[in-house]
Amino acid sequence: MIDKNTIHAILAAADIKDVIGDFLTLKKRGANYWACCPFHGEKTPSFSVSPAKGIYKCFGCGVAGNVVSFVMAHESLTYVEALKYLARKYNIEIRERELTPEEQKENNNRESMMVLSSYAQDYFSEQLWVSPAGQAIGLSYFRERGFSDPVIRKFQLGYSPDMRTAFSDMALKAGYKKEFLVATGLSIEGDHGLFDRFAGRVMFPIHSLSGRVIAFGARTLRQDKNVAKYLNSPESEIYSKTFVLYGIFQAKNTIVRSQQCYLVEGYTDVISMHQAGIENVVASSGTSLTIEQIRLIKRFTPNVTVLYDGDAAGIKASLRGIDMLLEEGMNVKVALFPDGEDPDSFARKHSSSEFETFLKDNEQDFISFKTKLLSNAAKNDPLRRAELIKDVVRSIGAIPDAITRTVYVKECSRLMDIDEDVLMREVAKLRREKLYDGNRPPAPAGETPTPETPPPSVPLPGFIEPNSYFASSEEEIIYYLLKYGTNPLFTRIGEDNETHIVNVSEYIMTELLNDDLKFTNLHYRQLFEEYAGLTEHDNQAYIKHFIHHPDARLSTLAIHIMDKLPPLTVEDYINSTAPESLQLLHTIPKVILVYKSRIIEVAAKSLMQQQLDAQTANDKAQVQMLSERIAQLHETRTRLSKDLKRLIF
Ligand code: ATP
Ligand code: MN
Repeated sequence: MIDKNTIHAILAAADIKDVIGDFLTLKKRGANYWACCPFHGEKTPSFSVSPAKGIYKCFGCGVAGNVVSFVMAHESLTYVEALKYLARKYNIEIRERELTPEEQKENNNRESMMVLSSYAQDYFSEQLWVSPAGQAIGLSYFRERGFSDPVIRKFQLGYSPDMRTAFSDMALKAGYKKEFLVATGLSIEGDHGLFDRFAGRVMFPIHSLSGRVIAFGARTLRQDKNVAKYLNSPESEIYSKTFVLYGIFQAKNTIVRSQQCYLVEGYTDVISMHQAGIENVVASSGTSLTIEQIRLIKRFTPNVTVLYDGDAAGIKASLRGIDMLLEEGMNVKVALFPDGEDPDSFARKHSSSEFETFLKDNEQDFISFKTKLLSNAAKNDPLRRAELIKDVVRSIGAIPDAITRTVYVKECSRLMDIDEDVLMREVAKLRREKLYDGNRPPAPAGETPTPETPPPSVPLPGFIEPNSYFASSEEEIIYYLLKYGTNPLFTRIGEDNETHIVNVSEYIMTELLNDDLKFTNLHYRQLFEEYAGLTEHDNQAYIKHFIHHPDARLSTLAIHIMDKLPPLTVEDYINSTAPESLQLLHTIPKVILVYKSRIIEVAAKSLMQQQLDAQTANDKAQVQMLSERIAQLHETRTRLSKDLKRLIF
């Protein structure tokens, strides 16, 4: 926790032109500075930086923000990481909030383990580059594998000497505690003291998102089949393999920029692809893909391409992992390498441009890939065909977005030669079962549910008046509130001169309260007011609250809203270059402005009708009063639409 005064000092010191100037070439034009926008591809600069206002804004794609949000978005950092980055740049000492003794101890342990891991990485790299054995054995191994020296340095590869206690002895002598040598798994405690876990292996350090070493993978150089080829650090306070993706630190910027992430199997695949010039690549390394790893990727892009080596058994085993990607709403593609090749071996045999062409030509969407894969096996066997249909329906049913589901149903109906409606019905049935599985709202007291009653259908709750001009805006607002309410939106300096983080829900509530706006749709209003009274800590908790709500209408409504497309137009959705969560600063004010404009439009119409009536009745005072109010509204409307234009262009 950084204390508030420190945050204030950082924000006061940080000059937005300097900070952004470290990443982009800025040209002065008028009061502002201009560059090509780093967040969407363009040839002519529409990205502007205003030193006076301390903000940046792109007139091409609409991103905007302050100095902290720029560093966050451009470097893919969290809020705190971005502040730390700026503090380093401006030599501001970070004062952290006082921690409780337990927090202190835990922090100290973690910190000690990371410091030790970094020491170990230095040691292993030094061995690799300097010691005769390291050069002769380790370095020459990497070079023979085709890794260039710069790439070996970029990934901080190393060598652990082939002596039982070389590293442990050195670390102890340097003052590192036995406790942490054991806790990180670098050393193992034997009857005669510590010995090295990784002796005689080449070392692949594993980095956290912010680039600190938290663990190692280590490959033996022996041919002996009884020796495990790869050994990894054990799970520890700083390393949980379900949360870590190998290469994410080196890949994250390119992933954000290209809005694309390649997923491969291991260390060598990641490194070889970097060497081939493809840097947006990560590996799940040794585990099958986990939901946490998927969410990590999703922070940067919704687009994943899984690269498979051409071995069918491996593919079948990993199909489940891919269904998980779909469930998380990712756009999943697959590229299959020729038999016997993996990305590593393929990269070594082909030039960078051949590699890229290969990926382009061989990428296919996952559902079609799976359908073809399974169809081959099920060709003339009706039973297996039925299985296949179920399986494909399960994958399609996992996709949260309705439009994407429809597209895949069409495609699969063609590939499998099955009626589209039949497939669609199956998918709908499966989704209903899934949504209500464990989430079914409890029946009101006194009533026992009859088992035959079908679950209420999710698609469109009938109690929403479809004619309301405001309902779709109100629904959008609720959608963002539920899905992103606790996300930070921007920071502001308050009257107390302190920095406040304004999150999405605060912003929305303030905007509506300031103009004294209440939702016209009663159900949305009820949901909104209940939301405002809750104090959960994360979005998931809010969503859960409403999905499990005892009032079946509220829970159905919540499910309905959460199951919807992000409420942009389809084009927005298809063309969107940044993940939804990165566009909040643009989208949320837009949604609010659109809502307010609609309300004003309707109010103005009603006033004009009243004015007509007053004219007919020849009530001059009333006409005068009404025209003043209409003029006021008109002014507000002009201001709103100006704001809106500024947001959109
Ligand atoms: P070879 O030179 O024989 O091809 P390799 O080092 O490329 O060996 P592979 O067996 O081809 O290793 O495996 C490819 C990738 O899979 C490796 O880069 C490694 O990251 C990962 N891998 C393989 N076995 C393990 C393991 N036991 N634990 C973690 N990762 C592993
Ligand atoms: Mn290999």
